[in-house]
Amino acid sequence: MQRDPEYATSSRTRLNRIGQGRHFLQIPGPSPVPDRVLRAIDYPAIDHRGPEFQQLALRVLKGVGPIFGTTEPVVIYSGSGTGAWEAALMNTLSPGDTVLMHETGQFAGLWKRLAEKLRLKPDCIASDWRSPVDPGQVESRLRADSQGVIKAVCVVHNETSTGVTSDIAAIRKAMDAARHPALLMVDCVSSLGAIDYRHDEWGVDVTVAGSQKGLMLPPGLGFNAVSAKAREAAKSAGMPCGFWDWEDIIATNAQGFWPTTPNTNLLYGLAESIDMLMEEGLPRVFARHQQLALATRTAAAVWGLDNVCQQPKACSPVVTALFMPAKPDGNRHDADTLRREALERYNISLGTGLGRLAGQAFRIAHLGDTNALTIVGALAAVEMTLKALKVPHQSGGVQEAMQVLT
Ligand SMILES: *Cc1c(COP(=O)(O)O)cnc(C)c1O
Repeated sequence: MQRDPEYATSSRTRLNRIGQGRHFLQIPGPSPVPDRVLRAIDYPAIDHRGPEFQQLALRVLKGVGPIFGTTEPVVIYSGSGTGAWEAALMNTLSPGDTVLMHETGQFAGLWKRLAEKLRLKPDCIASDWRSPVDPGQVESRLRADSQGVIKAVCVVHNETSTGVTSDIAAIRKAMDAARHPALLMVDCVSSLGAIDYRHDEWGVDVTVAGSQKGLMLPPGLGFNAVSAKAREAAKSAGMPCGFWDWEDIIATNAQGFWPTTPNTNLLYGLAESIDMLMEEGLPRVFARHQQLALATRTAAAVWGLDNVCQQPKACSPVVTALFMPAKPDGNRHDADTLRREALERYNISLGTGLGRLAGQAFRIAHLGDTNALTIVGALAAVEMTLKALKVPHQSGGVQEAMQVLT
């Protein structure tokens, strides 16, 4: 076999060229798309006003409710999670309304910025980006709001930038304790289908989700699960709302259609991913995520890398964010150098540090179509790259992770 000279001379190039097999996509969305879902999507476009589509739509609309833990309508948009954020705010609120937010990390911050662009007034509880929403602070802010100025409480269930999960049931309790009528809106974009979630039981008014994380689909669908109270609020909301208007969609969905052209092929994929989640069983899906997360945290503890999440109970089952160790000059080893080397050497994508964590931290996702072996492989890539870059760490993290998974 002829090899070109470059192949033989550069070890980095050689590693790249022999780096065949599957790419390890260990970022917290888009997550790996299972072959079953890919095959389901690989289907001719069909008439979105015809009987075959109608059957698909009715099946998907019925099947998606249990994933949200709801019997209320779930509105499905062609759009991303950000679109679904916007839909939640536009349907229910009026310009100038105050919304209570808690800046748990980058995504909570982006939702806040979006609210500002929509001329809402976010009242934002600051955070160290290392802890979950504090229900006590939510309660005291609501108690102090005797005029009922706050129209909605908007929180992120799983803060994907930090690997911190907030307790939505506790936030609901805090709102009830304050006897405050604000709507509860929850961003579930990276937790739906991966972490236990109960829209109805927890009294959530709008649950926001997307397709490319726990649902194991490519990007392209956004979701709003909506309570009766949220639909009632929509009747008097003053925000102009066209494409995002729930009621047009809910009314046509009842017949198995959408008012505009729906994302036909992704809906085929969604039907398949719902089947997959239900075949495994949601409790087992959630337990699998927790176990893979525990294995990851165990490896990180051996390496001596500091977890961004400081409360063990709040550590995310979906993604673990780790600080790089400090150098003698006080600066941290560069997280993006680690990610770049891991990609070149081992064909793995790790999550970058976002916002104020840029360069400081990297993220290992254990989300969606993932199992013990992909996690052991991903952890091995991290450990080998730490070693190659001479980043100070204790070896043996993978070994300990294997104990957790045995
Ligand atoms: C990914 C993500 C979003 C944004 O979704 P897009 O699909 O990128 O618009 C919002 N919130 C959280 C928590 C996310 O993880």
